[in-house]
Amino acid sequence: MRRYFVTTFGCQMNAHDSERIKGTLESIGFGEASSREEADVLVFNTCTIREKPDQRFAAHMGDAKVLKQANPDAIVAVGGCYAEAQRERLFELYPFVDVAFGPGTIPHLADWIGADGQGVARGSFGIAEERSFSATLPLQRERRFQAWVQVSMGCNSKCAYCIVPSVRGREVSRRPGEILAEVSRLAGEGVREITLLGQNVNSWGRDLLPDVRTEFGELLRACDAVDGIERIRFTSPHPKDFRDPVIAAMAESAAVCEHIHLPLQSGSSRLLKAMRRTYDAERYLRLVDRLRAAIPDLALGTDVIVGFPGETEADFAETLRVVEAVRYDSAFTFIYSPRRGTEAADLPDQVPDGVKHERLERLVEVVQRIAAERNAERIGRVEEVLVEGSSRTDAALLRGRTRRNTTANFAGDARPGELVDVLVQGSTSMTLRGRQAALVAA
Ligand code: SAM
Ligand code: SF4
Repeated sequence: MRRYFVTTFGCQMNAHDSERIKGTLESIGFGEASSREEADVLVFNTCTIREKPDQRFAAHMGDAKVLKQANPDAIVAVGGCYAEAQRERLFELYPFVDVAFGPGTIPHLADWIGADGQGVARGSFGIAEERSFSATLPLQRERRFQAWVQVSMGCNSKCAYCIVPSVRGREVSRRPGEILAEVSRLAGEGVREITLLGQNVNSWGRDLLPDVRTEFGELLRACDAVDGIERIRFTSPHPKDFRDPVIAAMAESAAVCEHIHLPLQSGSSRLLKAMRRTYDAERYLRLVDRLRAAIPDLALGTDVIVGFPGETEADFAETLRVVEAVRYDSAFTFIYSPRRGTEAADLPDQVPDGVKHERLERLVEVVQRIAAERNAERIGRVEEVLVEGSSRTDAALLRGRTRRNTTANFAGDARPGELVDVLVQGSTSMTLRGRQAALVAA
């Protein structure tokens, strides 16, 4: 049997696309290799959101070149956002690449690679104009009880720093019937937790109007009604699209978890305007109040960028102020990275690297202190945990996630896929520690 090996970079959308890439290759007769050395088809599903993933990918291409020299029949396929951003230039940079494809052209992968890897059209590139959902492709899931469900592709926002709209195109929502059919099928296969995925997940449905009158809150309610689905998550929502019906649906749907990843990006209203985020700091804080009023015990995560062009010490102080005011349970912190072709890459007043790094350190310190305090507040409580496997740091313990999306390591005898109550006895800024109280459901 011919074998494939997929290497994935970047966000959850890419991880999910890789499940489709694997499923597609399996459907044309390939099996998964346990290492790149054993593979006949090497797929790299790339990211280009910042410079760092570009550099990591370049290092991997060094390895791929060596493998290709040793085995000239191996097929090297490069997909994802970096491939789309670089297009034909990719073949100049890496002449040993056989096939390149963007995130919207995974459905064509089987044609290019061909049954058993025969007849691969060398140097072919998936054209972005043909973008279509990969959601209808076969799927190879990592865990039997958790699944990602893509609800939309692309993004209509114009955030000045972001390359996503140019590599993933305009937003297109999947039709509700199709999404619900997938969710019901997954529930039938034993999936208990779903994560709805979209670049701007809560603007889902707007492009379906006037044919289908619906919005994201309706989708949450419909997923909640599917028997067997006990947890619903979604990522990433945009603060501008958190309208009342979405908040009400979250509050009233038992399966929707008490966790929202709510990207802030900056706490400075002046910079938010320059970023084209379409909200200011006060509106964001009011949204947090509305969310917390509707959903008691809500956990909030966020994304913050430091060093956006023109960011002054006063702007950065505003970011720290908002972070202190919201008290996030978790946060991804990023150094602004200019991306070719985005509006911000050409702005004057790029912030020097040293200043960016120094601000990042200060931000991380605040984020970690608050997260540690938030987690310490959980000690003594009982949290429902979906068991994922053994603890990564101590094999004698189990690991899972609470509804509020915190990793919990705990003593117990449950199996992966079970929901159990865990008494929280200790915490760090990233994790909880405890012991299993009782089985909630087998
Ligand atoms: N669509 C999602 C959203 O809007 O939240 C995800 C976008 S991106 C995959 C995840 C995060 O990367 C963004 O929220 C932003 O904080 C960060 N990011 C995007 N472009 C960036 C850039 N040029 N430099 C640094 N961070 C960036
Ligand atoms: Fe990028 Fe903004 Fe769209 Fe998120 S909402 S993908 S940050 S353009």
